[in-house]
Amino acid sequence: MEFNSLKDEDKRYIESIVSAERFSTGESNLDLHSRDMSGHRASRPEAVVWPKDRAEVSRILSYADQRRIPVTAWGAGTSLVGNPIPLHGGICLDFTQMARILEIRTDDFQVDVEPGVIYKDLNHKLRHTGLFFPPDPGADATIGGMIANNASGIRTVRYGSTKDNVLRLVMVLANGEIIEVGNRASKSSSGFDVLHLFVGSEGMLGIVVEATLRLVGIPSEFASSVATFETVEDASKAVFEIIRSGLDPAALELLAPECISIINRHKNLELPVSPTLFMEFHGPSRHHLEEVIGIAEELCREHDCQEFRPGLNKEERDRLLEARYALGEMIRQDRSDRFRIAIDVAVPVSAYPEMIAFAGEQAREAGAAAAYIFGHAGDGNIHLVIETERGNRETGQRIKEANHSIVHKALALKGTATGEHGVGIGKAKFMEAEHGPSLEWMKKVKQLLDPHGILNPGKMFP
Ligand SMILES: Cc1cc2nc3c(=O)[nH]c(=O)nc-3n(C[C@H](O)[C@H](O)[C@H](O)COP(=O)(O)OP(=O)(O)OC[C@H]3O[C@@H](n4cnc5c(N)ncnc54)[C@H](O)[C@@H]3O)c2cc1C
Repeated sequence: MEFNSLKDEDKRYIESIVSAERFSTGESNLDLHSRDMSGHRASRPEAVVWPKDRAEVSRILSYADQRRIPVTAWGAGTSLVGNPIPLHGGICLDFTQMARILEIRTDDFQVDVEPGVIYKDLNHKLRHTGLFFPPDPGADATIGGMIANNASGIRTVRYGSTKDNVLRLVMVLANGEIIEVGNRASKSSSGFDVLHLFVGSEGMLGIVVEATLRLVGIPSEFASSVATFETVEDASKAVFEIIRSGLDPAALELLAPECISIINRHKNLELPVSPTLFMEFHGPSRHHLEEVIGIAEELCREHDCQEFRPGLNKEERDRLLEARYALGEMIRQDRSDRFRIAIDVAVPVSAYPEMIAFAGEQAREAGAAAAYIFGHAGDGNIHLVIETERGNRETGQRIKEANHSIVHKALALKGTATGEHGVGIGKAKFMEAEHGPSLEWMKKVKQLLDPHGILNPGKMFP
């Protein structure tokens, strides 16, 4: 695709749509929108625009489409695979100023929001209603960015990922047309499911300007436990048994000993440095939860659990969860001088133990300086961060090969190259292997909705 760069007349026109305070070509704003939280090379937009309503977004897209100017949406820039980096320059649409909670409908368990709302702020606002929006990627992500990446998190094992919690979207298409997809009913058999075509489309098929989200009740009781094991493989087998038993955990997280060490150091905790499962259950009464935890303990003991600590109190639970959320960042900060690759594969849960064993073996064989295995185990999602000293080209190359082997193993197990971070730049190389001929149909869908390819170009397709 050939794109035009922004000429002075384009800048003047776009500025006239949004007003001078919401249009910038300043160096610091361009830099701030040139990189996400991945290690991918920065690439600046030519202008940053902060739209305040759907009409402005529509006018900007209509103009950009006619002029063949790339447009990349920006939520909070917390992506981990380069998704919002404006690879071809053009206009960056920053949604910070479209962040209103439009209507909370407690009786229907729904909320209408603009895309720039940070999901943590939404949950803070909702707390008095007894409801919450369950997908929780941990970072300060926006609803627009979560929808675009189909983000998920610790609670996904019970409440689903973003796609399971979005009912309706208002989208602006590449040509500026505004369409509404989905509805506010809790179910529908009407027409093609275009709503879910947009979820996970990484800002490449249209721009989200409003969303109706499904809310769920804050559980009346919870019980959290920590179990430690001899090996990571034993812990992963216990994960499979817990899921198979139908105990329905609300969180089931795996942490390898290297992750526990780093958490202890950064958060002043004294957790035993062993392969660890953190689990949480939600339910109607203490009695019910005691029974559930009792069964979970039995299942863990069958897999050589060394220690099982039931009944963490709220403070302990919150500290552990906070540490888990911050783990990726702690790893990055711990040795900012290292080259690292972050893997995000997911497999069917029955294949989880095999996948964990394979990933650990590959990291060891690569001779990595450090390898951190963790993940939303209950969803079959594995995060593995493999590191080497910068400049150590040989190990760097072996780490890249390990990444390749691990992703291909996940695909052979009928899993996916990315459980939750999205494709962006980093995972594009795996799309052909994962999707085969259906990748061509994805390209045709892109061509249909965005014939000039202006929306977030350079992503997803190898
Ligand atoms: C410490 C840390 C922990 C994380 N943990 C998790 C985790 O557990 N699970 C998980 O899923 N992710 C996780 N992430 C990744 C990240 O938070 C998610 O991918 C999140 O969805 C990105 O949201 P954002 O608002 O930052 O979007 P951005 O990074 O700004 O953009 C993401 C994508 O969305 C597009 N986009 C943004 N707004 C719109 C819009 N209005 N319309 C259309 N497209 C749009 C962008 O173009 C881009 O393609 C983590 C990140 C960090 C830094």
